[in-house]
Amino acid sequence: MQQPDFIKNIKSNSDDVNQALIEKAYFFALNAHKSQKRYSGDPYISHPVKVAEILTGLKLDTATIITGLLHDTVEDTLASIEEIKNIFGAEVATLVAGVTKISKIKAHSDKKNQAENFRKLILAVSKDIRVLLVKLADRLHNMRTLKFIPSEERRKSIALETMEIYAPLAGRLGMQSFRDELEDLSFKILNEAAYNSIKNRVDYLKNSSSNLTEKINIQIVNLLTEEEINCDVFGREKKIYSIWRKMQLKEIAFRQLSDIFAYRIITKNKSDCYRALGIIHTKWSAVPGSFKDYISTPKINNYSSLHTTIVGPQRQRVELQIRTKEMSQIADSGIAAHWQYKDNYNLTDDSSSDPINVTWLRDLVDILDSGATSEELLEATKLEMFQQQVFCFTPKGDLIHLPENSNPIDFAYALHSEIGNRCIGSKVNGKSQPLFIKLSNGDEVEILTSRGQEPSEVWGNIATTAKAQSSIKRFFKKQENSDFLDLGNRILLNSLGYKEDLPDDIANQMMDKFRKKSLNDLLISVGKGHIKNKEIVKFKPRKRLSFFTRYRKNPNKKLPLEIKGLQAGLAVHFAECCLPLPNENIIGVSESDVGVIIHNSNCKKLTEDFEEDLWLTATWKDIDENQLFTSRIKISVVNEPGSLGILASHIGQNGGNIINLNISEKSNDYFDMIFEINLKDLKHLNLIIENLRELDIVSMVKRFFIN
Ligand code: MN
Repeated sequence: MQQPDFIKNIKSNSDDVNQALIEKAYFFALNAHKSQKRYSGDPYISHPVKVAEILTGLKLDTATIITGLLHDTVEDTLASIEEIKNIFGAEVATLVAGVTKISKIKAHSDKKNQAENFRKLILAVSKDIRVLLVKLADRLHNMRTLKFIPSEERRKSIALETMEIYAPLAGRLGMQSFRDELEDLSFKILNEAAYNSIKNRVDYLKNSSSNLTEKINIQIVNLLTEEEINCDVFGREKKIYSIWRKMQLKEIAFRQLSDIFAYRIITKNKSDCYRALGIIHTKWSAVPGSFKDYISTPKINNYSSLHTTIVGPQRQRVELQIRTKEMSQIADSGIAAHWQYKDNYNLTDDSSSDPINVTWLRDLVDILDSGATSEELLEATKLEMFQQQVFCFTPKGDLIHLPENSNPIDFAYALHSEIGNRCIGSKVNGKSQPLFIKLSNGDEVEILTSRGQEPSEVWGNIATTAKAQSSIKRFFKKQENSDFLDLGNRILLNSLGYKEDLPDDIANQMMDKFRKKSLNDLLISVGKGHIKNKEIVKFKPRKRLSFFTRYRKNPNKKLPLEIKGLQAGLAVHFAECCLPLPNENIIGVSESDVGVIIHNSNCKKLTEDFEEDLWLTATWKDIDENQLFTSRIKISVVNEPGSLGILASHIGQNGGNIINLNISEKSNDYFDMIFEINLKDLKHLNLIIENLRELDIVSMVKRFFIN
């Protein structure tokens, strides 16, 4: 098997690279992709080889070049991350996994701000900047060979993605030559007519002014050499897309398109940059406002150069960029150049540390420290911000961004508060997951909802976003009010002896008397116990309402308040002291802001703590057979080994479920225990008590009230 040229020549690039390992990676990829073909008809391996070649050109490290060779093996072949880890180590495996992860995320929607979101997502996913460099090299080669893809629609969608996502990403990382090429390749696909007309104009100007270009070039070189400045001067054609962009911004009209060349002056060192500038400005006049010093104040992506536009030898405008070779490298390959200049490029104070281990974020923070304009600062702040966010998709592909540590509950409320209120579960990447699971970047989250579902109170603690928390709070506030309103309505009707709705006149008079603006306010106040039962009973309607009596179905007879078997939400509670059971006599009392507390009618606390005219007669209704209620019993039992076990198994055999146990008194012969047992009703309780009484070890057993 023949190895590609780039591997043969790799040693001339850098001494640090491990040629043998790269060769091994090449054969691994070759074997994995086997007979796969590109759309061009070339064997598939040609693609990873080109990607690795681009990365080698950027003088990147061994792990990155190997990742270039392996980048499509996990996605497209039978190779696995584990296998790669075993052969090439954890570093390469992590990088390949990162590139694979990016390949899997798709920009589903064409909404405008989604391009920016997607860009952020890619950055967030690529914790190691080298992942992004491989991805950009991959995209660059795919764009170079895009013409082979048969479907026009597909070509356009890839070109659009490149234009909106990958080209700006390259720009943000300071990789200008990547950005230029990606933009021109995309532009050609997206707007071929515009591309061709600019290209023709540029070609025409190039041919008609080739002498001029050469002349300018020679004049600059001669001028600087006279002053003993050693330099190279390159005339550089402007990029088609950048000309188009300037035309779009109305900075130039098409017919004004004459200065298609910019000149780059490469000097030996920084001080020569300034000397050259001085000499040129002395000879030719500068266009006002055109001078920019990016050497003393580099751009956010580390771009350093002097810019000026002069009125040149033939009275035409000439754009000049003056920089050192090193600055030029950084201008072209941006962040990738950190690896090339890791020894002498002063990134930070601790430049001695190996930049390969520096994450992209630190790189950007470092760049920020090196000085930036306010716009650039803003840009960097944005970059930092998304480190603390996660980006997830709906199944339809809409991007939802959430703070770090968010879970499906936050996601559901981010979609809509109704979806949040009704969510019963979630699927993350197609797999059922609990609602409190932590979401990661790139997760696709599906929220399962049900009509009958309501938020649970624990959600308030689980939700991390302010939106989810306030929605949950609002739900409970509303729920609570509706429970109190319902309770208030029932208390009012029962106390006054009405079966159905309160007659309007009575309602109005009551609202007047208790100074309530609306019937709802009145009912909530009654439900919350702010208006007491005795005040309601004392209320006498004004006599002039002669028809009042007609409405009164059961005058002078109070109706009991009906308590459903299930605890009626937030407004009705069972008293802890006596724990009433279904079908026994109960009495309710209103407590301010708590609602109605239901007591057993024999409870001492009830008679001791509340005057009788505060009592609400209550009755059970609609008890669900499967609903369990808690009851309390006290047992005196012989103090001998195994006693407790006998009691417990006896209670269990009779269908009681012990939920709590207290030993209250202990003597040498006997001890008293209080059991809390979940059971069905009074009958069930009596059955358990009778059965326990039959045991020899039990000397006493009775229902127990705390008072
Ligand atoms: Mn690829």
